[in-house]
Amino acid sequence: MTPVDLLDLDSLLDDEERQIRSVVRRLVDDRVRPHVAEWYEQGQVPARELAREFGRLGLLGMHLTGYGCAGSTAVAYGLACLELEAGDSGVRSLVSVQGSLAMYAIWRYGSEEQKQRWLPPMATGEAIGCFGLTEPDHGSDPASMVTRARRDGDDWLLHGGKMWITNAPVADVAVIWARAEEGVRGFAVPLDTPGVSVREIRRKMSLRASVTGEISLDGVRLPADALLPGAAGLKAPLSCLTEARHGIVWGALGAARDCLETTLGYATTRTQFGRPLAGFQLTQAKLADMAVEWQKGFLLALHLGRLADAGKLRPEQVSVGKLNNVREALAIARQCRTILGANGVSGEYPIMRHANNLESVLTYEGTSEIHQLVIGQRLTGLNAFA
Ligand SMILES: Cc1cc2nc3c(=O)[nH]c(=O)nc-3n(C[C@H](O)[C@H](O)[C@H](O)COP(=O)(O)OP(=O)(O)OC[C@H]3O[C@@H](n4cnc5c(N)ncnc54)[C@H](O)[C@@H]3O)c2cc1C
Repeated sequence: MTPVDLLDLDSLLDDEERQIRSVVRRLVDDRVRPHVAEWYEQGQVPARELAREFGRLGLLGMHLTGYGCAGSTAVAYGLACLELEAGDSGVRSLVSVQGSLAMYAIWRYGSEEQKQRWLPPMATGEAIGCFGLTEPDHGSDPASMVTRARRDGDDWLLHGGKMWITNAPVADVAVIWARAEEGVRGFAVPLDTPGVSVREIRRKMSLRASVTGEISLDGVRLPADALLPGAAGLKAPLSCLTEARHGIVWGALGAARDCLETTLGYATTRTQFGRPLAGFQLTQAKLADMAVEWQKGFLLALHLGRLADAGKLRPEQVSVGKLNNVREALAIARQCRTILGANGVSGEYPIMRHANNLESVLTYEGTSEIHQLVIGQRLTGLNAFA
């Protein structure tokens, strides 16, 4: 139990959920925490090595069934995301993109051959996947994508490019979304296919312990069986995003918890004006407000996770969770930063790294504004996107 768990929300979890959580927490303590500040500073992360370790623990495609996947509940997967993101949002992104975007797309929309080919090695971390939806000129509005897929005999020819693609520089396969004559289609594209080139995006000031790339597709010839047969229309990639957003609803709480626990430790030991920072009323007001928000966020995540496990989770409900929990996690990280004073900006503490990471988390998988529009449309029946 964390000191932040004022309401004893742990009691809402079952033994198996608590056990999975503690296994992931231990892995993060051993394998991520000791190194992550260095990875972040260098802008380099041993993604392949980490993927294999996560694969050994069954964390990749954890909530999927068959093909070597663990088949866990949505709540257990959420708890794993929370623990991973308590280490770093970039590390959680590696797992989310692999399992909830790339593997999920193949698992849900792929042919039996595609599933047999890709899912088992992706579940062990031997193969890494990425998910290419965003383009340089089309982010929030993927319906306007310009990447094209054209039939050429039995083959497909892909032209275009994808931007801001997590894992791309280390990936073996990309799920690429492109506009064909009949609408948006998805393709499993091995990244060593002629005509594909990947450039790593450097100088990110956020998610520095995550590799991000740009994928260029220049007349990429693919056999007919590269097409994901079940994915027709934009609703296919959007359904993958709903999966991944559920992980983020939980993950953001991990970053916030790490900030809060660090801050509680700091504020009770650092003294100014002859008393611990935690003894000042203004500090306690901040701590109390943050702990209350964290608890509300956890209840929300757990509710959405239980809905997912009952097969009842709707996309706009995930939007409520993503909007609230990322927004509040970022507010918590910034507030914690103030309590650490100058040390709050130091890489010796995790706070600023989490705050910077959460800026990306606020933007990817649907920006806060896009989730407000989704919720607004549900409330009013009016589409205010354009
Ligand atoms: C580190 C990182 C990793 C990423 N990984 C991936 C990945 O693996 N795969 C992938 O496909 N993408 C990925 N993305 C891209 C991400 O999903 C997009 O950045 C996101 O969808 C927003 O698109 P954009 O950046 O083009 O912003 P824009 O769409 O240009 O939006 C800019 C601003 O305008 C606002 N806005 C846009 N439209 C409206 C509207 N109708 N009403 C009101 N406000 C609006 C937005 O909310 C935002 O504040 C990643 C991004 C980052 C930063």
